[in-house]
Amino acid sequence: MTMPRAISGNELPGKDGVLTVTNLQKRFLLGRAGIFGRGSESYVHAVDDVSFSLGRGEVLALVGESGCGKSTLALTLLGLEKPTRGSIRFEGNEISEYSSAQMKNVRRHMQMIFQDPYESLNPLMSIGEIVMEPLKVHKLGGSRAEQETRVVRALEDAGLKPADRYLKRLPHELSGGQRQRVVIAGALVLEPTLLLADEPVSMLDVSIRAEILNLLAELRDTRGISILFITHDLGTVGALADRVAVMYLGRIVEIGPTMAVLTNPQHPYTKALLSVVPVPNPRLRHKRLILSGETPDPINLPTGCRFHPRCPLAVDACRKTDPPLHPAGAGQEVACILVE
Ligand code: SF4
Repeated sequence: MTMPRAISGNELPGKDGVLTVTNLQKRFLLGRAGIFGRGSESYVHAVDDVSFSLGRGEVLALVGESGCGKSTLALTLLGLEKPTRGSIRFEGNEISEYSSAQMKNVRRHMQMIFQDPYESLNPLMSIGEIVMEPLKVHKLGGSRAEQETRVVRALEDAGLKPADRYLKRLPHELSGGQRQRVVIAGALVLEPTLLLADEPVSMLDVSIRAEILNLLAELRDTRGISILFITHDLGTVGALADRVAVMYLGRIVEIGPTMAVLTNPQHPYTKALLSVVPVPNPRLRHKRLILSGETPDPINLPTGCRFHPRCPLAVDACRKTDPPLHPAGAGQEVACILVE
Protein backbone atom coordinates (compact mmCIF):
# COMPACT_ATOMS: atom_id res chain seq x y z
CA MET A 1 0.00 0.00 0.00
CA THR A 2 1.42 3.42 -0.97
CA MET A 3 1.20 6.01 1.77
CA PRO A 4 -0.67 9.23 1.01
CA ARG A 5 0.87 12.63 0.53
CA ALA A 6 0.77 14.68 3.73
CA ILE A 7 -2.34 16.73 4.31
CA SER A 8 -3.01 18.83 7.37
CA GLY A 9 -6.11 18.40 9.51
CA ASN A 10 -9.50 18.22 7.91
CA GLU A 11 -8.66 20.02 4.70
CA LEU A 12 -12.24 20.40 3.57
CA PRO A 13 -12.95 22.42 0.46
CA GLY A 14 -14.04 25.98 1.09
CA LYS A 15 -16.53 28.06 -0.89
CA ASP A 16 -14.54 27.23 -4.00
CA GLY A 17 -15.97 23.69 -3.87
CA VAL A 18 -16.78 22.15 -7.26
CA LEU A 19 -19.38 19.72 -5.97
CA THR A 20 -21.55 19.75 -2.86
CA VAL A 21 -23.90 16.83 -2.24
CA THR A 22 -26.41 17.16 0.61
CA ASN A 23 -28.67 14.42 1.99
CA LEU A 24 -28.76 12.66 -1.36
CA GLN A 25 -31.03 9.67 -1.60
CA LYS A 26 -31.64 7.25 -4.47
CA ARG A 27 -34.21 4.50 -4.01
CA PHE A 28 -35.43 2.08 -6.68
CA LEU A 29 -39.07 1.02 -6.42
CA LEU A 30 -39.31 -2.78 -6.58
CA GLY A 31 -43.08 -3.12 -6.36
CA ARG A 32 -45.91 -3.49 -3.90
CA ALA A 33 -46.58 -6.39 -1.58
CA GLY A 34 -49.84 -8.40 -1.79
CA ILE A 35 -51.54 -10.34 -4.59
CA PHE A 36 -53.24 -7.23 -6.01
CA GLY A 37 -50.31 -4.95 -5.34
CA ARG A 38 -52.14 -3.02 -2.62
CA GLY A 39 -49.58 -3.65 0.11
CA SER A 40 -46.69 -1.50 1.14
CA GLU A 41 -44.11 -0.45 -1.44
CA SER A 42 -40.66 -1.99 -1.26
CA TYR A 43 -37.51 -0.21 -2.33
CA VAL A 44 -33.83 -0.86 -2.91
CA HIS A 45 -32.10 1.76 -0.77
CA ALA A 46 -29.08 2.30 -3.01
CA VAL A 47 -27.92 5.72 -1.74
CA ASP A 48 -29.26 6.96 1.57
CA ASP A 49 -28.72 10.42 3.01
CA VAL A 50 -25.24 10.95 1.60
CA SER A 51 -23.51 14.33 2.08
CA PHE A 52 -20.01 15.40 1.05
CA SER A 53 -18.21 18.12 -0.84
CA LEU A 54 -15.32 18.16 -3.27
CA GLY A 55 -12.91 21.08 -3.70
CA ARG A 56 -11.28 22.33 -6.87
CA GLY A 57 -8.26 20.14 -7.68
CA GLU A 58 -9.15 17.73 -4.87
CA VAL A 59 -9.38 13.93 -5.08
CA LEU A 60 -11.97 12.24 -2.89
CA ALA A 61 -11.86 8.44 -2.82
CA LEU A 62 -15.22 6.73 -2.33
CA VAL A 63 -14.52 3.25 -1.00
CA GLY A 64 -16.76 0.28 -0.24
CA GLU A 65 -17.69 -3.27 -1.18
CA SER A 66 -19.49 -3.85 -4.46
CA GLY A 67 -23.20 -3.15 -4.06
CA CYS A 68 -22.69 -0.47 -1.40
CA GLY A 69 -24.14 2.23 -3.69
CA LYS A 70 -21.01 4.03 -4.85
CA SER A 71 -21.60 3.49 -8.59
CA THR A 72 -25.29 4.42 -8.25
CA LEU A 73 -24.12 7.60 -6.52
CA ALA A 74 -21.88 8.42 -9.52
CA LEU A 75 -24.70 7.75 -12.01
CA THR A 76 -27.01 9.99 -9.95
CA LEU A 77 -24.45 12.81 -9.96
CA LEU A 78 -24.23 12.49 -13.75
CA GLY A 79 -28.01 12.67 -14.09
CA LEU A 80 -28.21 9.12 -15.51
CA GLU A 81 -30.36 8.26 -12.48
CA LYS A 82 -32.84 10.76 -11.00
CA PRO A 83 -32.27 11.41 -7.29
CA THR A 84 -35.18 10.49 -5.02
CA ARG A 85 -34.39 13.53 -2.89
CA GLY A 86 -31.48 15.71 -1.79
CA SER A 87 -29.33 18.39 -3.32
CA ILE A 88 -26.47 18.26 -5.86
CA ARG A 89 -24.69 21.58 -6.39
CA PHE A 90 -22.14 21.56 -9.21
CA GLU A 91 -20.12 24.69 -9.97
CA GLY A 92 -22.61 26.70 -7.90
CA ASN A 93 -25.73 25.40 -9.69
CA GLU A 94 -28.37 23.11 -8.21
CA ILE A 95 -28.53 20.32 -10.81
CA SER A 96 -30.64 17.69 -9.03
CA GLU A 97 -33.79 18.79 -10.88
CA TYR A 98 -32.15 19.43 -14.26
CA SER A 99 -33.75 18.03 -17.43
CA SER A 100 -31.91 15.59 -19.71
CA ALA A 101 -30.98 18.43 -22.08
CA GLN A 102 -29.58 20.50 -19.22
CA MET A 103 -27.65 17.50 -17.88
CA LYS A 104 -26.11 16.93 -21.32
CA ASN A 105 -24.57 20.37 -20.98
CA VAL A 106 -23.40 19.61 -17.41
CA ARG A 107 -21.71 16.41 -18.62
CA ARG A 108 -19.32 18.48 -20.73
CA HIS A 109 -17.78 19.54 -17.43
CA MET A 110 -18.39 16.34 -15.41
CA GLN A 111 -16.96 13.33 -17.20
CA MET A 112 -17.12 9.66 -16.26
CA ILE A 113 -14.30 7.16 -16.65
CA PHE A 114 -15.68 3.65 -16.58
CA GLN A 115 -14.08 0.52 -15.23
CA ASP A 116 -13.70 -1.46 -18.42
CA PRO A 117 -11.56 0.09 -21.18
CA TYR A 118 -12.39 -2.92 -23.39
CA GLU A 119 -16.12 -2.12 -23.33
CA SER A 120 -15.76 1.68 -23.39
CA LEU A 121 -14.14 1.95 -26.84
CA ASN A 122 -15.81 1.36 -30.20
CA PRO A 123 -13.65 -1.36 -31.81
CA LEU A 124 -14.36 -0.05 -35.33
CA MET A 125 -13.23 3.53 -34.73
CA SER A 126 -9.65 4.78 -34.79
CA ILE A 127 -8.19 6.30 -31.63
CA GLY A 128 -8.30 9.75 -33.25
CA GLU A 129 -12.00 9.34 -34.12
CA ILE A 130 -12.83 8.07 -30.61
CA VAL A 131 -11.26 11.07 -28.90
CA MET A 132 -12.77 13.47 -31.46
CA GLU A 133 -16.30 12.06 -30.95
CA PRO A 134 -17.17 13.99 -27.73
CA LEU A 135 -16.28 17.27 -29.47
CA LYS A 136 -18.70 16.40 -32.28
CA VAL A 137 -21.47 15.36 -29.87
CA HIS A 138 -21.17 18.61 -27.92
CA LYS A 139 -20.43 20.72 -31.04
CA LEU A 140 -17.25 22.08 -29.45
CA GLY A 141 -13.69 22.85 -30.39
CA GLY A 142 -14.15 25.29 -33.31
CA SER A 143 -12.74 24.41 -36.73
CA ARG A 144 -11.62 20.92 -37.71
CA ALA A 145 -7.97 21.99 -37.25
CA GLU A 146 -8.70 23.34 -33.76
CA GLN A 147 -10.52 20.13 -32.87
CA GLU A 148 -7.55 18.08 -34.04
CA THR A 149 -5.25 20.19 -31.87
CA ARG A 150 -7.46 19.44 -28.86
CA VAL A 151 -7.44 15.71 -29.66
CA VAL A 152 -3.63 15.67 -29.86
CA ARG A 153 -3.31 17.57 -26.57
CA ALA A 154 -5.79 15.26 -24.81
CA LEU A 155 -3.95 12.14 -26.00
CA GLU A 156 -0.57 13.51 -24.96
CA ASP A 157 -1.89 14.70 -21.58
CA ALA A 158 -3.20 11.16 -21.11
CA GLY A 159 0.35 9.89 -21.67
CA LEU A 160 0.02 8.70 -25.30
CA LYS A 161 3.01 10.53 -26.77
CA PRO A 162 3.60 11.36 -29.52
CA ALA A 163 -0.10 11.37 -30.37
CA ASP A 164 0.64 10.83 -34.10
CA ARG A 165 1.68 7.30 -33.28
CA TYR A 166 -1.82 6.44 -31.97
CA LEU A 167 -4.29 8.51 -34.03
CA LYS A 168 -4.85 5.96 -36.83
CA ARG A 169 -4.67 2.82 -34.70
CA LEU A 170 -7.63 0.70 -33.60
CA PRO A 171 -8.37 -0.17 -29.93
CA HIS A 172 -7.39 -3.84 -30.33
CA GLU A 173 -3.86 -2.76 -31.28
CA LEU A 174 -3.34 -1.21 -27.83
CA SER A 175 -2.62 -2.69 -24.41
CA GLY A 176 -5.18 -2.47 -21.56
CA GLY A 177 -3.33 0.46 -19.97
CA GLN A 178 -3.14 2.33 -23.30
CA ARG A 179 -6.86 1.79 -23.86
CA GLN A 180 -7.65 3.24 -20.44
CA ARG A 181 -5.48 6.24 -21.39
CA VAL A 182 -7.61 6.63 -24.56
CA VAL A 183 -10.75 6.59 -22.38
CA ILE A 184 -9.19 9.29 -20.19
CA ALA A 185 -8.21 11.32 -23.29
CA GLY A 186 -11.84 11.12 -24.47
CA ALA A 187 -12.85 12.74 -21.16
CA LEU A 188 -10.02 15.30 -21.19
CA VAL A 189 -10.81 16.56 -24.67
CA LEU A 190 -13.91 18.29 -23.24
CA GLU A 191 -11.72 20.02 -20.60
CA PRO A 192 -13.88 18.91 -17.63
CA THR A 193 -13.59 20.30 -14.12
CA LEU A 194 -14.67 17.01 -12.51
CA LEU A 195 -13.84 13.40 -13.34
CA LEU A 196 -15.93 10.58 -11.88
CA ALA A 197 -13.54 7.65 -12.11
CA ASP A 198 -15.45 4.42 -11.38
CA GLU A 199 -12.96 1.64 -10.58
CA PRO A 200 -10.59 2.96 -13.29
CA VAL A 201 -7.80 0.46 -12.53
CA SER A 202 -9.60 -2.66 -11.35
CA MET A 203 -9.62 -4.31 -14.82
CA LEU A 204 -5.93 -3.57 -15.43
CA ASP A 205 -2.83 -5.63 -14.68
CA VAL A 206 -1.30 -4.80 -11.33
CA SER A 207 1.83 -3.46 -13.08
CA ILE A 208 -0.25 -0.89 -15.01
CA ARG A 209 -2.42 0.30 -12.12
CA ALA A 210 0.20 2.58 -10.57
CA GLU A 211 0.77 4.25 -13.96
CA ILE A 212 -2.92 5.13 -14.34
CA LEU A 213 -3.18 6.33 -10.72
CA ASN A 214 -0.08 8.49 -11.28
CA LEU A 215 -1.67 9.89 -14.44
CA LEU A 216 -4.83 10.87 -12.53
CA ALA A 217 -2.68 12.53 -9.83
CA GLU A 218 -0.80 14.42 -12.57
CA LEU A 219 -4.07 15.65 -14.12
CA ARG A 220 -5.19 16.89 -10.71
CA ASP A 221 -1.90 18.79 -10.32
CA THR A 222 -1.48 20.14 -13.87
CA ARG A 223 -5.09 20.76 -14.93
CA GLY A 224 -6.58 21.36 -11.47
CA ILE A 225 -9.23 18.71 -12.15
CA SER A 226 -11.30 17.44 -9.21
CA ILE A 227 -11.71 13.68 -9.09
CA LEU A 228 -14.23 11.42 -7.37
CA PHE A 229 -12.24 8.18 -7.34
CA ILE A 230 -14.55 5.21 -6.79
CA THR A 231 -12.93 1.97 -5.69
CA HIS A 232 -13.52 -1.19 -3.64
CA ASP A 233 -9.81 -1.32 -2.76
CA LEU A 234 -8.56 0.87 0.09
CA GLY A 235 -5.03 -0.13 -0.95
CA THR A 236 -5.23 2.05 -4.09
CA VAL A 237 -6.27 5.34 -2.49
CA GLY A 238 -3.05 6.34 -0.68
CA ALA A 239 -1.12 7.60 -3.70
CA LEU A 240 -3.97 9.62 -5.13
CA ALA A 241 -6.70 10.73 -2.73
CA ASP A 242 -6.67 13.81 -0.49
CA ARG A 243 -9.65 12.50 1.46
CA VAL A 244 -11.42 9.18 1.77
CA ALA A 245 -15.13 8.46 2.27
CA VAL A 246 -16.04 4.89 3.25
CA MET A 247 -19.51 3.71 2.19
CA TYR A 248 -21.54 0.87 3.63
CA LEU A 249 -25.05 -0.06 2.47
CA GLY A 250 -25.73 3.30 0.86
CA ARG A 251 -24.33 5.45 3.68
CA ILE A 252 -20.99 7.15 4.32
CA VAL A 253 -19.78 5.69 7.63
CA GLU A 254 -16.40 7.45 7.79
CA ILE A 255 -14.86 10.39 5.96
CA GLY A 256 -11.61 12.22 6.56
CA PRO A 257 -8.11 13.09 5.33
CA THR A 258 -6.49 10.07 3.67
CA MET A 259 -3.52 9.91 6.05
CA ALA A 260 -5.81 9.93 9.10
CA VAL A 261 -8.22 7.29 7.73
CA LEU A 262 -5.43 4.94 6.63
CA THR A 263 -3.27 5.24 9.74
CA ASN A 264 -5.98 5.65 12.38
CA PRO A 265 -9.32 4.31 11.10
CA GLN A 266 -12.17 4.89 13.53
CA HIS A 267 -15.18 2.99 12.19
CA PRO A 268 -15.13 -0.83 12.65
CA TYR A 269 -15.97 -1.27 8.95
CA THR A 270 -13.02 0.90 7.85
CA LYS A 271 -10.79 -1.11 10.20
CA ALA A 272 -12.00 -4.36 8.63
CA LEU A 273 -11.41 -3.09 5.06
CA LEU A 274 -7.95 -1.86 5.99
CA SER A 275 -6.99 -5.04 7.78
CA VAL A 276 -7.15 -7.06 4.55
CA VAL A 277 -5.09 -4.62 2.44
CA PRO A 278 -1.74 -6.29 1.66
CA VAL A 279 1.17 -4.39 3.28
CA PRO A 280 4.79 -5.23 2.29
CA ASN A 281 6.21 -4.43 5.73
CA PRO A 282 4.92 -7.06 8.22
CA ARG A 283 5.42 -4.65 11.14
CA LEU A 284 2.91 -2.22 9.61
CA ARG A 285 0.26 -4.90 9.10
CA HIS A 286 -3.07 -4.46 10.89
CA LYS A 287 -4.57 -7.44 12.70
CA ARG A 288 -6.89 -9.17 10.21
CA LEU A 289 -10.52 -8.48 10.95
CA ILE A 290 -12.75 -10.83 8.97
CA LEU A 291 -16.38 -9.75 8.98
CA SER A 292 -18.96 -12.45 9.54
CA GLY A 293 -21.97 -12.89 7.28
CA GLU A 294 -22.98 -11.20 4.08
CA THR A 295 -23.85 -7.56 3.50
CA PRO A 296 -27.55 -7.23 4.51
CA ASP A 297 -30.24 -6.89 1.87
CA PRO A 298 -30.57 -3.22 0.78
CA ILE A 299 -34.35 -3.82 0.53
CA ASN A 300 -34.83 -4.83 4.19
CA LEU A 301 -32.30 -2.70 5.99
CA PRO A 302 -31.38 -3.69 9.57
CA THR A 303 -32.78 -1.51 12.33
CA GLY A 304 -30.44 0.90 14.13
CA CYS A 305 -26.88 0.91 12.81
CA ARG A 306 -27.04 -0.91 9.49
CA PHE A 307 -23.59 -2.41 10.13
CA HIS A 308 -24.64 -4.12 13.40
CA PRO A 309 -25.32 -7.64 11.97
CA ARG A 310 -21.62 -7.86 10.96
CA CYS A 311 -19.97 -5.59 13.49
CA PRO A 312 -17.62 -7.36 15.94
CA LEU A 313 -18.13 -4.54 18.49
CA ALA A 314 -21.95 -4.32 18.34
CA VAL A 315 -23.82 -3.78 21.61
CA ASP A 316 -27.58 -3.75 22.27
CA ALA A 317 -27.90 -0.02 21.61
CA CYS A 318 -26.58 -0.54 18.06
CA ARG A 319 -29.82 -2.32 17.14
CA LYS A 320 -31.87 0.73 18.13
CA THR A 321 -29.74 3.77 17.27
CA ASP A 322 -28.88 4.76 13.70
CA PRO A 323 -25.77 6.87 14.32
CA PRO A 324 -25.16 9.98 12.18
CA LEU A 325 -21.68 11.10 11.16
CA HIS A 326 -20.00 13.06 13.95
CA PRO A 327 -16.47 14.48 14.37
CA ALA A 328 -13.88 11.99 15.67
CA GLY A 329 -10.15 11.41 15.33
CA ALA A 330 -7.86 13.66 13.29
CA GLY A 331 -10.38 15.45 11.13
CA GLN A 332 -12.48 12.35 10.54
CA GLU A 333 -16.24 12.10 10.82
CA VAL A 334 -17.57 8.70 11.87
CA ALA A 335 -21.01 7.09 12.18
CA CYS A 336 -20.63 4.84 15.22
CA ILE A 337 -22.02 5.20 18.72
CA LEU A 338 -18.85 3.78 20.29
CA VAL A 339 -16.55 6.38 18.72
CA GLU A 340 -16.24 9.62 20.66
FE1 SF4 B 1 -20.61 -1.31 15.29
FE2 SF4 B 1 -22.45 -0.30 16.91
FE3 SF4 B 1 -20.57 1.26 15.90
FE4 SF4 B 1 -22.51 0.31 14.35
S1 SF4 B 1 -22.76 1.73 16.05
S2 SF4 B 1 -20.37 0.39 13.87
S3 SF4 B 1 -22.80 -1.71 15.21
S4 SF4 B 1 -20.26 -0.46 17.31
